[in-house]
Amino acid sequence: MNDILICKKDIGTFCSNLKEQFTVYGVKQKEEGFYVFDEIDEFSDPLKDYIPTILPPKKYLFPQQETLLRFDTQPLPDVKPVIESRKQVLFGVRPCDIHGISLLDKIFTADHDDKNYTRKREETVIIGMDCLEPCYEHALCASVGCLNVDDGYDIMMTDIGDYFYTSIKTSQGEEIVRKYSKYTGAGEEDRKRFLRLRNDREGKFENKIKTDISNLPLIFKNADNDPVWDELNDRCLGCGRCNIVCPTCYCFDVYDCMDLNMTSGERCREWDACTLKDFAVVSTGENFRSTRGQRLRHRFNRKFNYLMTRYNTSFCVGCGRCTRSCPVNIDVVETVNAVIKNNKTDDK
Ligand code: SF4
Ligand code: SF4
Repeated sequence: MNDILICKKDIGTFCSNLKEQFTVYGVKQKEEGFYVFDEIDEFSDPLKDYIPTILPPKKYLFPQQETLLRFDTQPLPDVKPVIESRKQVLFGVRPCDIHGISLLDKIFTADHDDKNYTRKREETVIIGMDCLEPCYEHALCASVGCLNVDDGYDIMMTDIGDYFYTSIKTSQGEEIVRKYSKYTGAGEEDRKRFLRLRNDREGKFENKIKTDISNLPLIFKNADNDPVWDELNDRCLGCGRCNIVCPTCYCFDVYDCMDLNMTSGERCREWDACTLKDFAVVSTGENFRSTRGQRLRHRFNRKFNYLMTRYNTSFCVGCGRCTRSCPVNIDVVETVNAVIKNNKTDDK
């Protein structure tokens, strides 16, 4: 399907119509300056300017707590998987969060299909909202290659004035647009305006990592003894907030909850955080990352070295949530740039 225009005044109706078939999650203002993804009744136009939500929309694919199976021990042992999913639309997802979901797609299908994730993902439609300027001062999406998004969504909307210039990526996106929205075809002038706005945005994103990101795995590999980790050891509180708000963090803990009868129960998982003290404690009691500096070094290596080496893409998508949420103002860009400064060789 060619690109189309959806008039802004028709977006609310589009959203309402989607509810015939889907649960629709979009952005709501929680309080001044804070936004959340939540079930919405209708799209609210001013929220097109929202800054990243407190938690990323990954929570609808990988919930904070989730039951994986139910079991009985009597009369005979019996285990039943629990996989919950529903047809859902994530409406107005930013490019950084779309990249985040695409990375989770890779992680949760890497060695085997994680059915609790993939079933939800299969039932999810993503309607993106493109960014034409930095949403706030912490955004580093352009610097980590995540401002432009070519995949991972069904529909992408760009604000070109009275209309959203709308590109359709998947057959599901096309079906939805045909069935639920009022639209017209985009003309040549609309397309030129759309391209001009997209080109103009390039110079506006100033929060920058000071090297080509492809250099980062090697820089971090050589930075194990960098003094920045000692400095952060003294500042970091080990609270885990930076992990919890991150769209690409996917570590979880698994535990069993017995019912009161002690013969049945359920196995659950919930988000875990590598910056928490007990994250790397093993059964003999040793802790492989007992200091906060070691744990932060590990977290940064996960984003810019280990997973980047494995998947050939940055595992920081540049949303800036960790910087915004840190109670002691540990800034992802400042930290990466300090590591670069201390470890950069002349040829990089
Ligand atoms: S590391 Fe920070 S800026 Fe990067 S994706 Fe995670 S929360 Fe966003
Ligand atoms: S949010 Fe800040 S203080 Fe808390 S663990 Fe992360 S870096 Fe440390």
